[in-house]
Amino acid sequence: MTYIDLRSDTVTKPTPAMRAAMSTAEVGDDIYGEDPTTNELEARAAELLGKEAAIFVPTGCMGNTIGIKLNTQHGDEVICDARGHVIDWELSMTAWFSGCLVRTVPTPDGILTWDRLSPYIRHISPHNSPTACIEIENTHNMAGGVPYPVDVIDDVTARAHQLGIKVHMDGARVFNAAAAQNLPVARLVRDVDTVMFCLSKGLCAPVGSMVVSTKANIDRARRYRKQLGGGMRQVGVLAAAGLLALSEMPARLVEDHANAAFLAQGMADLGYDCGRVQTNIVIFDLGQRMPVPQLLERLKTRGVLAGGAGGTRVRFVTHHDVSRADCEIALAATRESLL
Ligand SMILES: *Cc1c(COP(=O)(O)O)cnc(C)c1O
Repeated sequence: MTYIDLRSDTVTKPTPAMRAAMSTAEVGDDIYGEDPTTNELEARAAELLGKEAAIFVPTGCMGNTIGIKLNTQHGDEVICDARGHVIDWELSMTAWFSGCLVRTVPTPDGILTWDRLSPYIRHISPHNSPTACIEIENTHNMAGGVPYPVDVIDDVTARAHQLGIKVHMDGARVFNAAAAQNLPVARLVRDVDTVMFCLSKGLCAPVGSMVVSTKANIDRARRYRKQLGGGMRQVGVLAAAGLLALSEMPARLVEDHANAAFLAQGMADLGYDCGRVQTNIVIFDLGQRMPVPQLLERLKTRGVLAGGAGGTRVRFVTHHDVSRADCEIALAATRESLL
Protein backbone atom coordinates (compact mmCIF):
# COMPACT_ATOMS: atom_id res chain seq x y z
CA MET A 1 0.00 0.00 0.00
CA THR A 2 1.31 3.44 -0.82
CA TYR A 3 0.30 5.94 1.81
CA ILE A 4 -0.46 9.62 1.59
CA ASP A 5 2.13 10.64 4.13
CA LEU A 6 1.27 13.80 6.05
CA ARG A 7 3.37 12.95 9.11
CA SER A 8 6.15 15.37 8.23
CA ASP A 9 7.95 17.08 5.36
CA THR A 10 11.02 15.06 6.41
CA VAL A 11 9.50 12.12 4.48
CA THR A 12 10.10 13.78 1.10
CA LYS A 13 12.21 11.66 -1.24
CA PRO A 14 15.01 13.14 -3.33
CA THR A 15 13.75 14.19 -6.76
CA PRO A 16 14.94 12.38 -9.92
CA ALA A 17 17.14 15.41 -10.70
CA MET A 18 18.72 15.09 -7.24
CA ARG A 19 19.42 11.38 -7.71
CA ALA A 20 21.03 12.11 -11.07
CA ALA A 21 23.17 14.91 -9.62
CA MET A 22 24.19 12.69 -6.71
CA SER A 23 25.42 9.95 -9.02
CA THR A 24 27.74 12.26 -10.91
CA ALA A 25 28.81 14.61 -8.09
CA GLU A 26 32.45 15.54 -7.93
CA VAL A 27 33.75 14.61 -4.48
CA GLY A 28 36.81 14.83 -2.25
CA ASP A 29 37.60 14.59 1.45
CA ASP A 30 35.56 17.32 3.10
CA ILE A 31 37.52 17.17 6.36
CA TYR A 32 40.48 18.40 4.31
CA GLY A 33 38.17 21.00 2.75
CA GLU A 34 38.59 19.19 -0.57
CA ASP A 35 35.04 18.29 -1.52
CA PRO A 36 34.22 20.72 -4.34
CA THR A 37 30.48 20.06 -4.29
CA THR A 38 30.22 20.64 -0.55
CA ASN A 39 32.34 23.78 -0.85
CA GLU A 40 29.97 25.00 -3.54
CA LEU A 41 26.90 24.24 -1.41
CA GLU A 42 28.36 26.08 1.59
CA ALA A 43 29.23 29.12 -0.53
CA ARG A 44 25.82 29.11 -2.14
CA ALA A 45 23.98 28.86 1.21
CA ALA A 46 26.01 31.75 2.65
CA GLU A 47 25.32 33.85 -0.43
CA LEU A 48 21.58 33.13 -0.42
CA LEU A 49 21.30 34.04 3.24
CA GLY A 50 23.50 37.13 2.92
CA LYS A 51 26.08 35.90 5.45
CA GLU A 52 29.83 35.28 5.29
CA ALA A 53 30.00 31.52 5.59
CA ALA A 54 28.08 28.27 6.01
CA ILE A 55 28.73 24.68 7.03
CA PHE A 56 26.92 21.50 5.96
CA VAL A 57 25.81 19.34 8.91
CA PRO A 58 24.04 15.97 8.94
CA THR A 59 20.94 17.08 10.88
CA GLY A 60 19.02 20.09 12.07
CA CYS A 61 19.50 18.92 15.63
CA MET A 62 23.27 19.11 15.18
CA GLY A 63 22.91 22.50 13.47
CA ASN A 64 20.96 23.96 16.38
CA THR A 65 23.39 22.45 18.85
CA ILE A 66 26.31 24.11 17.06
CA GLY A 67 24.45 27.42 16.67
CA ILE A 68 23.70 27.64 20.38
CA LYS A 69 27.25 26.59 21.28
CA LEU A 70 28.61 29.43 19.12
CA ASN A 71 26.53 31.98 21.03
CA THR A 72 27.08 30.83 24.63
CA GLN A 73 29.59 29.94 27.32
CA HIS A 74 29.16 26.95 29.61
CA GLY A 75 26.79 27.93 32.44
CA ASP A 76 24.90 30.66 30.56
CA GLU A 77 21.15 30.76 30.03
CA VAL A 78 19.28 30.43 26.72
CA ILE A 79 15.71 31.64 26.15
CA CYS A 80 13.32 29.85 23.84
CA ASP A 81 9.58 29.44 23.37
CA ALA A 82 8.03 26.78 25.62
CA ARG A 83 7.10 24.55 22.66
CA GLY A 84 10.43 25.02 20.89
CA HIS A 85 12.09 22.22 18.98
CA VAL A 86 15.33 22.78 20.92
CA ILE A 87 13.65 22.16 24.26
CA ASP A 88 11.23 19.39 23.29
CA TRP A 89 12.76 17.40 20.44
CA GLU A 90 16.54 17.65 20.63
CA LEU A 91 17.40 15.37 23.53
CA SER A 92 18.64 18.09 25.91
CA MET A 93 21.54 18.96 23.59
CA THR A 94 21.70 22.55 24.89
CA ALA A 95 22.40 21.15 28.35
CA TRP A 96 24.59 18.30 27.20
CA PHE A 97 26.86 20.03 24.70
CA SER A 98 26.68 23.73 25.59
CA GLY A 99 26.16 23.31 29.35
CA CYS A 100 23.41 25.92 29.32
CA LEU A 101 20.08 26.14 31.07
CA VAL A 102 17.12 26.72 28.77
CA ARG A 103 14.52 29.12 30.13
CA THR A 104 11.24 28.68 28.30
CA VAL A 105 8.62 31.35 27.64
CA PRO A 106 4.98 30.35 27.15
CA THR A 107 3.44 31.96 24.06
CA PRO A 108 0.05 31.49 22.36
CA ASP A 109 1.54 31.30 18.86
CA GLY A 110 5.21 30.38 19.23
CA ILE A 111 6.36 33.93 18.57
CA LEU A 112 8.80 35.45 21.05
CA THR A 113 8.15 39.17 20.99
CA TRP A 114 10.35 41.38 23.14
CA ASP A 115 7.49 42.02 25.56
CA ARG A 116 6.98 38.31 26.06
CA LEU A 117 10.60 37.32 26.46
CA SER A 118 12.22 40.27 28.23
CA PRO A 119 10.93 39.34 31.74
CA TYR A 120 12.95 36.12 31.37
CA ILE A 121 16.26 37.82 30.65
CA ARG A 122 18.86 37.49 33.41
CA HIS A 123 21.90 39.64 33.92
CA ILE A 124 25.08 38.47 35.56
CA SER A 125 24.99 38.99 39.33
CA PRO A 126 26.10 37.15 42.46
CA HIS A 127 22.87 35.16 42.12
CA ASN A 128 22.24 34.84 38.37
CA SER A 129 23.89 33.50 35.28
CA PRO A 130 23.42 35.76 32.28
CA THR A 131 21.16 35.15 29.31
CA ALA A 132 23.59 34.70 26.45
CA CYS A 133 21.29 33.68 23.63
CA ILE A 134 17.69 33.96 22.48
CA GLU A 135 16.52 31.19 20.19
CA ILE A 136 13.66 31.83 17.75
CA GLU A 137 11.97 29.13 15.66
CA ASN A 138 10.95 30.25 12.16
CA THR A 139 8.53 28.82 11.18
CA HIS A 140 7.30 27.59 14.54
CA ASN A 141 6.56 23.91 14.19
CA MET A 142 4.33 23.03 17.15
CA ALA A 143 2.45 26.32 16.98
CA GLY A 144 1.31 25.32 13.48
CA GLY A 145 3.98 26.53 11.07
CA VAL A 146 3.76 30.15 12.18
CA PRO A 147 6.26 32.44 10.43
CA TYR A 148 7.93 35.18 12.48
CA PRO A 149 6.82 38.64 11.37
CA VAL A 150 9.97 40.33 10.10
CA ASP A 151 9.46 43.38 12.33
CA VAL A 152 9.46 41.09 15.39
CA ILE A 153 12.77 39.56 14.27
CA ASP A 154 14.25 43.03 13.72
CA ASP A 155 13.02 44.25 17.10
CA VAL A 156 14.21 41.20 19.06
CA THR A 157 17.64 41.15 17.42
CA ALA A 158 18.19 44.92 17.87
CA ARG A 159 17.23 44.90 21.54
CA ALA A 160 19.09 41.67 22.27
CA HIS A 161 22.25 43.04 20.69
CA GLN A 162 22.00 46.23 22.77
CA LEU A 163 22.24 43.97 25.82
CA GLY A 164 25.06 41.87 24.37
CA ILE A 165 22.72 38.91 23.86
CA LYS A 166 23.03 36.80 20.68
CA VAL A 167 20.15 35.47 18.61
CA HIS A 168 20.05 32.01 17.01
CA MET A 169 17.33 31.21 14.51
CA ASP A 170 16.11 27.63 14.24
CA GLY A 171 15.15 28.17 10.63
CA ALA A 172 14.46 24.50 9.87
CA ARG A 173 11.65 25.86 7.65
CA VAL A 174 12.87 29.40 7.06
CA PHE A 175 12.36 28.93 3.32
CA ASN A 176 8.68 28.29 4.07
CA ALA A 177 8.62 31.48 6.14
CA ALA A 178 10.17 33.42 3.26
CA ALA A 179 7.76 31.96 0.68
CA ALA A 180 4.74 32.71 2.88
CA GLN A 181 5.82 36.31 3.35
CA ASN A 182 7.14 36.78 -0.17
CA LEU A 183 10.47 37.97 1.17
CA PRO A 184 14.02 36.83 0.46
CA VAL A 185 15.39 34.49 3.16
CA ALA A 186 18.31 36.91 3.52
CA ARG A 187 15.92 39.57 4.76
CA LEU A 188 14.52 37.29 7.48
CA VAL A 189 17.95 36.31 8.81
CA ARG A 190 19.64 39.68 8.28
CA ASP A 191 20.40 40.48 11.92
CA VAL A 192 20.48 37.06 13.59
CA ASP A 193 23.91 35.87 14.69
CA THR A 194 23.50 32.26 13.60
CA VAL A 195 20.86 30.41 11.62
CA MET A 196 20.24 26.74 10.95
CA PHE A 197 18.03 25.58 8.11
CA CYS A 198 17.10 22.13 6.81
CA LEU A 199 17.66 20.91 3.27
CA SER A 200 15.99 17.64 4.19
CA LYS A 201 12.41 18.83 4.76
CA GLY A 202 10.29 20.74 2.26
CA LEU A 203 13.36 21.28 0.10
CA CYS A 204 13.47 17.48 -0.51
CA ALA A 205 17.17 16.71 -0.07
CA PRO A 206 17.66 13.24 1.43
CA VAL A 207 19.93 14.45 4.25
CA GLY A 208 21.38 17.60 5.68
CA SER A 209 21.11 21.04 7.18
CA MET A 210 23.21 24.20 7.06
CA VAL A 211 24.51 26.51 9.77
CA VAL A 212 25.12 30.01 8.45
CA SER A 213 26.94 32.85 10.20
CA THR A 214 30.19 34.85 10.19
CA LYS A 215 33.40 33.30 8.86
CA ALA A 216 34.86 33.26 12.39
CA ASN A 217 31.83 31.40 13.75
CA ILE A 218 31.81 28.86 10.94
CA ASP A 219 35.52 28.16 11.48
CA ARG A 220 34.68 27.29 15.10
CA ALA A 221 31.61 25.35 13.95
CA ARG A 222 33.91 22.93 12.06
CA ARG A 223 35.48 21.89 15.33
CA TYR A 224 32.10 21.42 17.04
CA ARG A 225 30.75 19.41 14.12
CA LYS A 226 33.72 17.05 14.34
CA GLN A 227 33.32 16.74 18.11
CA LEU A 228 29.68 15.79 17.61
CA GLY A 229 30.63 13.09 15.13
CA GLY A 230 29.40 15.02 12.13
CA GLY A 231 32.64 15.30 10.16
CA MET A 232 31.95 13.59 6.85
CA ARG A 233 34.26 12.65 4.00
CA GLN A 234 33.05 12.34 0.35
CA VAL A 235 29.87 14.13 1.32
CA GLY A 236 29.54 15.82 -2.06
CA VAL A 237 27.05 13.11 -3.04
CA LEU A 238 24.71 14.66 -0.47
CA ALA A 239 25.71 18.25 -1.15
CA ALA A 240 24.79 17.74 -4.81
CA ALA A 241 21.19 17.14 -3.74
CA GLY A 242 21.45 20.13 -1.42
CA LEU A 243 22.42 22.40 -4.29
CA LEU A 244 19.28 21.41 -6.17
CA ALA A 245 17.27 21.83 -2.97
CA LEU A 246 18.38 25.46 -2.95
CA SER A 247 18.00 26.17 -6.65
CA GLU A 248 14.86 24.22 -7.59
CA MET A 249 12.71 23.77 -4.53
CA PRO A 250 12.03 27.08 -2.72
CA ALA A 251 9.83 28.50 -5.47
CA ARG A 252 7.33 25.63 -5.23
CA LEU A 253 6.78 25.79 -1.44
CA VAL A 254 3.75 28.04 -2.04
CA GLU A 255 1.99 24.95 -3.45
CA ASP A 256 2.47 23.17 -0.12
CA HIS A 257 1.10 26.23 1.67
CA ALA A 258 -1.97 26.29 -0.58
CA ASN A 259 -2.53 22.59 0.10
CA ALA A 260 -2.22 23.17 3.85
CA ALA A 261 -4.74 26.02 3.66
CA PHE A 262 -7.04 23.68 1.75
CA LEU A 263 -6.75 21.03 4.50
CA ALA A 264 -7.28 23.67 7.20
CA GLN A 265 -10.44 24.91 5.49
CA GLY A 266 -11.72 21.35 5.20
CA MET A 267 -11.07 20.75 8.89
CA ALA A 268 -12.76 24.04 9.79
CA ASP A 269 -15.80 22.85 7.82
CA LEU A 270 -15.79 19.76 10.06
CA GLY A 271 -15.70 22.00 13.12
CA TYR A 272 -11.97 21.81 13.88
CA ASP A 273 -10.32 25.21 14.00
CA CYS A 274 -6.72 25.12 12.78
CA GLY A 275 -6.00 28.79 13.38
CA ARG A 276 -4.53 30.89 10.62
CA VAL A 277 -2.49 28.43 8.55
CA GLN A 278 0.22 30.35 6.71
CA THR A 279 2.70 27.65 5.74
CA ASN A 280 2.71 23.84 5.44
CA ILE A 281 1.68 22.72 8.93
CA VAL A 282 -1.91 22.13 9.99
CA ILE A 283 -2.67 21.35 13.63
CA PHE A 284 -6.09 20.72 15.09
CA ASP A 285 -7.34 19.70 18.51
CA LEU A 286 -9.42 16.53 18.66
CA GLY A 287 -10.55 17.32 22.19
CA GLN A 288 -12.59 14.43 23.58
CA ARG A 289 -13.83 13.29 20.15
CA MET A 290 -11.56 10.22 20.20
CA PRO A 291 -8.03 9.43 21.37
CA VAL A 292 -5.35 10.65 18.93
CA PRO A 293 -3.92 7.12 18.34
CA GLN A 294 -7.42 5.91 17.37
CA LEU A 295 -7.82 8.60 14.72
CA LEU A 296 -4.30 7.95 13.42
CA GLU A 297 -5.07 4.23 13.17
CA ARG A 298 -8.35 4.84 11.33
CA LEU A 299 -6.60 7.20 8.93
CA LYS A 300 -3.92 4.61 8.31
CA THR A 301 -6.47 1.96 7.32
CA ARG A 302 -7.69 4.51 4.75
CA GLY A 303 -4.18 5.04 3.40
CA VAL A 304 -3.34 8.28 5.18
CA LEU A 305 -0.51 8.81 7.66
CA ALA A 306 -0.63 11.70 10.14
CA GLY A 307 1.01 12.44 13.47
CA GLY A 308 0.21 13.59 16.97
CA ALA A 309 1.25 17.06 18.07
CA GLY A 310 1.09 16.60 21.83
CA GLY A 311 -1.94 15.97 24.01
CA THR A 312 -5.14 15.81 21.99
CA ARG A 313 -3.68 17.52 18.92
CA VAL A 314 -3.12 16.08 15.43
CA ARG A 315 -0.70 17.39 12.81
CA PHE A 316 -0.78 17.28 9.00
CA VAL A 317 2.28 18.48 7.11
CA THR A 318 2.09 19.13 3.36
CA HIS A 319 5.10 18.75 1.07
CA HIS A 320 6.39 17.98 -2.42
CA ASP A 321 5.25 14.36 -2.34
CA VAL A 322 1.56 15.05 -1.62
CA SER A 323 -0.63 16.59 -4.32
CA ARG A 324 -3.90 18.50 -4.07
CA ALA A 325 -5.71 15.29 -5.07
CA ASP A 326 -3.96 13.49 -2.19
CA CYS A 327 -5.15 16.23 0.16
CA GLU A 328 -8.72 15.76 -1.06
CA ILE A 329 -8.45 12.03 -0.30
CA ALA A 330 -6.91 12.76 3.09
CA LEU A 331 -9.71 15.13 3.96
CA ALA A 332 -12.39 12.60 2.96
CA ALA A 333 -10.57 9.94 5.00
CA THR A 334 -10.48 12.27 8.00
CA ARG A 335 -14.19 13.03 7.65
CA GLU A 336 -15.03 9.30 7.58
CA SER A 337 -12.65 8.52 10.42
CA LEU A 338 -14.27 11.07 12.67
CA LEU A 339 -17.77 9.68 12.15
C1 LIG B 1 12.95 19.14 11.91
C2 LIG B 1 13.32 20.28 12.77
C3 LIG B 1 14.63 20.45 13.21
C4 LIG B 1 15.76 19.49 12.89
O1 LIG B 1 15.46 18.18 12.92
P1 LIG B 1 16.46 17.01 12.46
O2 LIG B 1 15.55 15.85 12.39
O3 LIG B 1 17.49 16.90 13.50
O4 LIG B 1 17.05 17.38 11.15
C5 LIG B 1 14.90 21.57 13.96
N1 LIG B 1 13.96 22.46 14.26
C6 LIG B 1 12.69 22.33 13.84
C7 LIG B 1 11.69 23.38 14.18
C8 LIG B 1 12.31 21.22 13.10
O5 LIG B 1 11.05 21.09 12.71
